[in-house]
Amino acid sequence: MKTNYNIDENGYYGTFGGAFIPEMLYPNVEELRQNYLKITSESSFQKEFLALLKEYVGRPTPLYFAKRLSEKYDTKIYLKREDLCHTGAHKINNTIGQILVAKRLGKTRIIAETGAGQHGVATATVCALMGLQCIVYMGEIDIQRQSPNVARMKMLGAEVRPVLSGSKTLKDATNEAIRDWINHPQNTHYIIGSVVGPHPYPDMVSRFQSVISEEIKAQLLEKEATENPNYIIACVGGGSNAAGAFYHFLNEEHVHLIAVEAAGKGVGSGESAATSILGKIGIIHGSKTLLMQTSDGQITEPYSISAGLDYPGVGPLHSHLFETQRAEFIAITDDEAMLSGIELSKMEGIIPAIETAHALAALDKKQFQSSDIVVINLSGRGDKDLNTYIDYFKL
Ligand SMILES: *Cc1c(COP(=O)(O)O)cnc(C)c1O
Repeated sequence: MKTNYNIDENGYYGTFGGAFIPEMLYPNVEELRQNYLKITSESSFQKEFLALLKEYVGRPTPLYFAKRLSEKYDTKIYLKREDLCHTGAHKINNTIGQILVAKRLGKTRIIAETGAGQHGVATATVCALMGLQCIVYMGEIDIQRQSPNVARMKMLGAEVRPVLSGSKTLKDATNEAIRDWINHPQNTHYIIGSVVGPHPYPDMVSRFQSVISEEIKAQLLEKEATENPNYIIACVGGGSNAAGAFYHFLNEEHVHLIAVEAAGKGVGSGESAATSILGKIGIIHGSKTLLMQTSDGQITEPYSISAGLDYPGVGPLHSHLFETQRAEFIAITDDEAMLSGIELSKMEGIIPAIETAHALAALDKKQFQSSDIVVINLSGRGDKDLNTYIDYFKL
């Protein structure tokens, strides 16, 4: 029997997904659900989306053969350079797609939530590009921790609204964004930053990010005379860069998919973000998926040295890939990731985001054949993480 890893007509990947939303949000989500496939398949949409990816984002991103890294691990390692995208990571692929959908739905006001600020910056960027009003909800604690990204969003013309409720971090910012959306159903689109949230967001965001695996196929065909690698490795916070890197390989069962989560200080330490291992089925941000929670169902505060992997859930696609064992899940600690970040810097002259460094650390956990083709999705660059690298290595 062939398992299907695409979403079904009810918005589920196997038993995960759906849209568990308050009644007052129903009209907004339903409007999106009824229109997203129609809008995104129109040729005028495709033309504008692809032109912006090319001219503004800088796609296609290179598939770079990492010679020295390959020698060290005695296998063929390619890096998919999403770090070279405008704004420094893959997130802009999604925000470009969603802003074009919002425009076609007649929306004039954009809201977003952000934790580390990377999604806020990617959203503020496309709002500036399109001349649309942008409001970004951000926890008070995160505003203090991520001041350069707050400044970036302000320079780009966005309003950053501090969130003072709860733990004053990402999940509270998400709650405020949802409240805003309920109060402004007519003119506002909510740009969610990963493959999370109620249907149709996980599917819509996966499709926008799927350009990553589409390009990998064409680039491998040219370089290796085959479209399919043996392994694809990507880090997972909410799961959008991994969803994009896996998308066109999901039904190629011989392509081994590796999803890398943040173990933080260790899976059993109480300070971790390894959702597939530590999570149980529950509802987060309108989606049924695996999430870290207490025995009475309250969300557990996750921890990782990397702000982008510090999320208590994973998107429903990844819960399904975990449950069906289509993807292998590996947990990498802070220390392992930091060492891999330095290793790539010194061996290839590429300073990766700390999120991405988790994916690189998976190289130490597997045994590859020298003829294997291993593609690592280099989700972002490390400029934003310089202070963390400085503190950790006493640079
Ligand atoms: C945000 C971010 C991630 C994590 O988000 P996903 O939705 O899991 O991709 C990973 N890498 C970088 C560089 C990021 O900015």
